[in-house]
Amino acid sequence: MATAEITRPCKYCGDQVTSTDLTYEVCRACHYSGRVHADQFAPLIADLDALAPAGTVAAYPEHTGGGCWWLAVRMASGGYFAGTLAYKNDDGEWETDATLPDNPNGPWSIGYYQDADDCEGINVACGVSGEVFVEIVRRGEVAKLGQHVRFRKAVERFPHCLAEAGTTGRVAAVCDGFITVELDAHVPSLAEWDNCVLFDRDMETYEEFFEVAEVIA
Ligand SMILES: [Zn+2]
Repeated sequence: MATAEITRPCKYCGDQVTSTDLTYEVCRACHYSGRVHADQFAPLIADLDALAPAGTVAAYPEHTGGGCWWLAVRMASGGYFAGTLAYKNDDGEWETDATLPDNPNGPWSIGYYQDADDCEGINVACGVSGEVFVEIVRRGEVAKLGQHVRFRKAVERFPHCLAEAGTTGRVAAVCDGFITVELDAHVPSLAEWDNCVLFDRDMETYEEFFEVAEVIA
């Protein structure tokens, strides 16, 4: 084998590529700096960065150690969102690897961390698209108690409730597994549920909150 095939320049900086994968054209330093993933997720990162007025500082891929990566979005508040493929199951154990999906459109599992010392975080969403990732970050934080929201689309809770698009309400409960929205208008069929629409992880409607509920105050 000719040495010329092995020694090749990094496509970013021109330094020697040392990867044993001869098809890989990126040097070690550029690999761990996240440039490859930054290119891979460029449109999503651009959408996240465009939220700067809403409190985003910056979105970037970060090597978290041992070959693991996440797409971090640091907020002006000091908190940050992080997207990976990994999520916590009902027993609180991590499933799949803490690495990035192949496709910018996901599936993304999203955690929210108060600051750099927060190791636990809150599991905000699992298996969501890039679009929902952006929407979650647009809120700037996890759903907050008392937040006034409007449904962009109809929300159906068969058989007792159909909240039309445009319905408004306030976030009445936020837990790891569910969010409730108490509607402003009284809905007789929701009397048993304190006039609340439930977004529940067990019912696979938790992420729907982030898709449909637009913050109005
Ligand atoms: Zn390089």
